[in-house]
Amino acid sequence: MRMTRIKVAAVAAGLAMVAAGCGDAGSSGGETRDVEADENAEFESGTRMAELNEQGSIKIGVKFDQPGIGFKGASEDEPVGFDVEIGKILAADLGIAPEDIEWVETISDNREPFLEEGEVDLVVASYSITEERRQVVGQAGPYYETGQQLLVRSDSDISTVEDIKGTEVCSVTGSTSLENIEAEGATARGFDTYSECVDQVLNGSLDAMTTDGAILLGYAAEDPDNLKVVVEPFSEERYGVGYSKDAPEMCDFINDSLETAAEDGSYDEAFEITLGESGVETPELPALDPCA
Ligand code: GLU
Repeated sequence: MRMTRIKVAAVAAGLAMVAAGCGDAGSSGGETRDVEADENAEFESGTRMAELNEQGSIKIGVKFDQPGIGFKGASEDEPVGFDVEIGKILAADLGIAPEDIEWVETISDNREPFLEEGEVDLVVASYSITEERRQVVGQAGPYYETGQQLLVRSDSDISTVEDIKGTEVCSVTGSTSLENIEAEGATARGFDTYSECVDQVLNGSLDAMTTDGAILLGYAAEDPDNLKVVVEPFSEERYGVGYSKDAPEMCDFINDSLETAAEDGSYDEAFEITLGESGVETPELPALDPCA
């Protein structure tokens, strides 16, 4: 089922810039790649891939408030970020052009229900693969690996995880981060979105926020005068692509598409123009979990 992808050109299609208050404007997720749909994509009839290809459109759940990963500025029509680029690569291999993707905002807590209820066809939203989640949805990949760290104000003395024992730290409801931080001896305060949590740190209500380093680096890159990422990663987060358990055949399709992207350079390009902008080194595509 190997697919041929029509070569794409990386274009600097307008850096998504947002004015960060009165401070420096920062890049909120980077550039976007011009991706063309694979006109020759063909799938066995009856598969979910064939249905999506026939339909010519797809709904993909991404984050809207995570710079570098999935971010949509208030005045922008489309989100940008590494997850968005991965979504575009998968859609193109299904024969679906970027303009036929409906981007749906998913927050950490609604990713499983959105897949189960068919609100979205795929979730590419900093979505760590866990055994618990795999009980209810499919997760192919991983396409990226990161680990949990802390985001603090630039003048903070917090430098090890021990420093937050017995303190209140915010994260997001429905995330692995919230569970992990309790295990480190902190009291977790859960918000719906990471942007609400960052505000707590910026306004001094809380001293630290916690989640994946890749997400935190995006926020720190937006506001380097006021925020910094600290401590060695204390968890392993492997980002997977979520799909419905009703369509297990999606797993091989997603893994093949990711491998093709790694081989033809589009994975690297997607990373460099998004997360790479916050100073994260371009990784190799991790070894993919075998499909059941
Ligand atoms: N990757 C972690 C998770 O899936 C934290 C980031 C997030 O909430 O999206 O729970």
